[in-house]
Amino acid sequence: MISIDQINAILPQTQCGQCGYKGCKPYAEAIALGRADINQCPPGGDEGILELATLLELKTKPLNPEFGVHKPKHVAFIVEEDCIGCAKCIAACPVDAILGAAKLMHTVISAECTGCELCVAPCPVDCIEMKPLSIALSLAQKSACKMTAMRRYEARNRRKAYEALEKAEKVRKQKEALLLMHSDTGIDRSSA
Ligand code: SF4
Ligand code: SF4
Ligand code: SF4
Repeated sequence: MISIDQINAILPQTQCGQCGYKGCKPYAEAIALGRADINQCPPGGDEGILELATLLELKTKPLNPEFGVHKPKHVAFIVEEDCIGCAKCIAACPVDAILGAAKLMHTVISAECTGCELCVAPCPVDCIEMKPLSIALSLAQKSACKMTAMRRYEARNRRKAYEALEKAEKVRKQKEALLLMHSDTGIDRSSA
């Protein structure tokens, strides 16, 4: 039986969401469950579709243009003198490839950028530009980039899940404290 991880390993790990899913792994899960077709990933293009078709013993097909067009890899660059340090790009980056802090200039770690473009639209001052990669990557380099992007995406998801749990716990404790305060007030009134 073909596993989700085998399908995910073929996907480019750009984590762009163009396939209609929140990242490559959710798309791999949907393919494995027969809920998505194999031709929905523009970054993977025809090469990726052929690999998926071979793995799943299906006929290959062209990329579905409803999901976008295949383009050469680009990376994001921040025009640093225009950056206002709002941190919106950091929140949007699925692989934590942007460095910066609130009210400080931000910068992209080019080697970690998958070219997903998700940071471009949220930037309020349009200071993020996508530029084509200046060097051609070897197969080994492409594979190393994919593995790094997969690891960083999964690490980010784990961190986000942990932060959500922490937030829920904080809210729960605040509610508990409020309830306790109200019940204490009730005791005071009845004993007055
Ligand atoms: S690279 Fe983008 S379109 Fe392709 S599977 Fe990953 S998230 Fe989906
Ligand atoms: S820096 Fe921008 S383009 Fe690069 S991975 Fe992050 S969100 Fe995507
Ligand atoms: S979204 Fe734009 S302005 Fe805001 S920190 Fe990122 S690059 Fe700077």
